[in-house]
Amino acid sequence: MNKLLELNHVTFSFKTYGGVVQSVRDVSFDINQGEIVGVVGESGCGKSVTCQCILRLNPEPPGFFSEDSSIKYKGTELLKKSEKEMRAIRGKEISFIFQDPMTSLNPTMKIGKQIEEIFVYDKSLSRHEKKQEALDILSTVGISDAERRYGQYPHELSGGMKQRVMIAMALVGSPSVVIADEPTTSLDVTIEAQILDLLKEMKEKFNVSIILVTHDLGVIAKLCDRVMVMYGGKIVERGTVEDIFYHTKHPYTAGLLKSIARLDMKKGEKLTPIEGTPPDLFNPPAGCPFAARCEYCMEICNETFPEEYKITQGHDSCCWLQHEDAPEVDLLSGEIK
Ligand code: SF4
Ligand code: MG
Repeated sequence: MNKLLELNHVTFSFKTYGGVVQSVRDVSFDINQGEIVGVVGESGCGKSVTCQCILRLNPEPPGFFSEDSSIKYKGTELLKKSEKEMRAIRGKEISFIFQDPMTSLNPTMKIGKQIEEIFVYDKSLSRHEKKQEALDILSTVGISDAERRYGQYPHELSGGMKQRVMIAMALVGSPSVVIADEPTTSLDVTIEAQILDLLKEMKEKFNVSIILVTHDLGVIAKLCDRVMVMYGGKIVERGTVEDIFYHTKHPYTAGLLKSIARLDMKKGEKLTPIEGTPPDLFNPPAGCPFAARCEYCMEICNETFPEEYKITQGHDSCCWLQHEDAPEVDLLSGEIK
């Protein structure tokens, strides 16, 4: 498979009045062409910041990368690029769909013009061609009366329609990678399903890679090929959807799974939220970030950050339970073997 993006040892922190917050801690992963990769975790786990790092969307300073952080796109280091060079990448090579279309669309500008903004520096297209591109992409994302919508303002569109416009804006520059940060969180379930179908259709049509950030494992199950579970600024488990849902090897992933409704739930079975709060990233724990909330926590967990254990090809878990001397537990049933 063709590697498009390679993140290696990415650590990103913010200098604040209260001290330094490490939002992303030593994160490494690759994205291949044409795959949908989910990034899942509770709010504040670092999933959005990780994705923003790829496009350098956070102001530097107060944000900064560690010396050994590396983010390569098609083999070129993005962390060495100037702001001007990054602007040529945003929207055309890698684009971003934000969570809330209400805040990311300009309320004072007509839809069509906002889409054409993507080509603002492109001198090769005439005004007429830009308009045609905008109309074409609106139809592609399922907006049937594109000509009329082109001339409307965001407030004249429904929530689902606005999210389609956001997807249109993300695709119009023909990027290779689209990052979608909680793209359906503000929508009701029926519209959510339509938008997820649309993303899948767009992936097939344009062979783009999609990084889908969500706190919702249901969304992951519907759409993704691979999943990364983040906690406390780190990737704690990664694998295929099948690995993560049926062969869970991290107590945090198991906790997330137990907190969502499933079709195969037995009568009387209750959803269990994960008790406690995420770690303080001003002062991250030396050991496992999940230790304070983990029912399997052992002595070593508080002292040393767990290694990444390879379960099967592509399935890894950062948990001491995978050590050969640890007790064997079925994390989904809680049974100790
Ligand atoms: Fe729980 Fe220890 Fe595994 Fe962390 S390393 S998830 S505390 S068992
Ligand atoms: Mg977020």
